[in-house]
Amino acid sequence: MHITLNIWRQKDRNSQGGLVTYELSDVTPDMSLLEALDLLNLGLVRTGVDAIAFDNDCREGICGTCCLQINGRPHGPLKGVAACQIYMRSFEDNATIIIEPFRAKAFPIVKDLVIDRSAFDRIIQAGGFISVKTGGAPDGNTLPISKHTLETAFDAAACIGCGACVAACKNASAMLFVAAKVAHLGRLPQGQPERKQRALGMVAQMDSEGFGACSNTYACQYECPKQISVDNIAFLNSEILRAKIF
Ligand code: SF4
Repeated sequence: MHITLNIWRQKDRNSQGGLVTYELSDVTPDMSLLEALDLLNLGLVRTGVDAIAFDNDCREGICGTCCLQINGRPHGPLKGVAACQIYMRSFEDNATIIIEPFRAKAFPIVKDLVIDRSAFDRIIQAGGFISVKTGGAPDGNTLPISKHTLETAFDAAACIGCGACVAACKNASAMLFVAAKVAHLGRLPQGQPERKQRALGMVAQMDSEGFGACSNTYACQYECPKQISVDNIAFLNSEILRAKIF
């Protein structure tokens, strides 16, 4: 396969960036998009050009670091997968692929395709901790939890903190991310003692980081690689109301 790549290049936080065009041959359909970037970087380094900076770690859709906007969509053309799980067979031969970093005021660009998502870390930090009695592993049936509660909490816990929901939202809202974090603990008995302060603390931090309000377009759910449901946002809103009333 031959592809044309238009890739966002930016020297540092304070420089102005722009799209740079690269031609890449010897691409195979079974190569991942990140492997195609590796191939491109190999060629660039050999000719004395700075390699394109991009974040990646697990390359199996778990770590959430591959925050790439591919042809205008967070994580690319497929539903329910991260950018590292996009393979070149998803594109036509001679295709042009535009790769940019996720765009949001709260995610400043560090270099090329690398963004600073430490705002998410600070939100998690603001959520605090959960009180647990340490000791031996408790018996599985000590805390009876209904199947529905268990499954909805587990679904929320699947959030990998990638930020695609923010990039997909026209208001750059982080509501789906915060909702997933609040819901996965707030639904379980272990998360009850700090339930109120967790919801209020995380939402206050989210607002102070410069994320926008929920746009109610459901674009976040559509582009989320883990298909986190917007039902969690309804849960978060009820948690905030509950925390303020009681
Ligand atoms: S909710 Fe989905 S899109 Fe948002 S950070 Fe979590 S996994 Fe990524």
